Amino acid sequence: MEKETHRRPISGPVLVIGSGLMGSGIAQVIATAGYHVRLTDVSRKALDIAQTRIADSLSRLVASGRMESDIPETALERIEFDEYAPSALNEVDLVLESVVEDLEVKREIFQDLDARTGSEVLLATNTSQFPIGKIAGGASSPERIIGMHWSNPPPLMPLVEVIPSAKTSDEAFNQCIDFVHSCGHRTVVCRKDVPGFISTRLYQALVLEAMRIVDDGLASAEEVDDVARYMHGHKMGPLAALDFAGLDTALSVSKELADHYGPRFLASPVLSRLVDAGHTGRKSGRGFYTYE
Ligand code: NAD
Repeated sequence: MEKETHRRPISGPVLVIGSGLMGSGIAQVIATAGYHVRLTDVSRKALDIAQTRIADSLSRLVASGRMESDIPETALERIEFDEYAPSALNEVDLVLESVVEDLEVKREIFQDLDARTGSEVLLATNTSQFPIGKIAGGASSPERIIGMHWSNPPPLMPLVEVIPSAKTSDEAFNQCIDFVHSCGHRTVVCRKDVPGFISTRLYQALVLEAMRIVDDGLASAEEVDDVARYMHGHKMGPLAALDFAGLDTALSVSKELADHYGPRFLASPVLSRLVDAGHTGRKSGRGFYTYE
């Protein structure tokens, strides 16, 4: 990363693939920054939910005084909500993949993007854990593939982790950093393309220990979260935060990290039990807590 080289700035539409919790939040941030966004998914229902979620989030930002009242309407007008079709790639400068945390699904998407887009198009993944080189696989132009890891919820979390693979070019790296900054967010760079990068590795250490404390019968989920909030100053307890992020994602992350770093990242029994029972957190109505 020594040379200050730049590709052309992002001026065309940005394609976001995956309109779930993260894809919708990222689309909201990018559209608010003035970019035209194509938000796509394989599920029409997910797109409808995303549209409502974005409108609600923008309204809350206005109500709390963090956004001017005329911004939501223009931001929403800049987002197209459509099921994915290859025509969504027309004239895009940046594709940001934010689909389920499944390596094979992501690899397939990147193989397709590699074949269908010119090497001038920046391809980014929002994976929480998989090395970017693994997702890029045997891409013919891996130099424009990079990790752009946002945090949940994207409109409120100002730091984005950028992960270049060993093959990412300086130009693509700089283009990615410039783009994130143009969206009003800051960046931190993970200097090695390893599972979990900086943020997920750090976060998993906390949440896995929180779950082990529950498993050991020392305290309930609420009590563990209270300690984090009122003794350690966290805004949200780790188990409430995990419910928000999705327990299925957390389980998949701990498997990948345990494979690479060893048993300290193994999932706790309570996490496996909850996911096996279909309790994946807020999105399913139940996780460590129960939701209306
Ligand atoms: P989610 O389950 O809320 O959304 C995933 C979406 O992807 C769904 O709407 C699904 O229909 C769609 N999808 C699945 N396969 C697809 C395909 N082939 N093409 C298009 N769409 C497809 O998941 P999420 O929490 O938004 O996570 C998305 C990504 O963001 C994952 O890689 C995850 O690890 C990462 N991430 C999540 C968090 C978090 O807190 N949840 C934080 C940072 C990064």
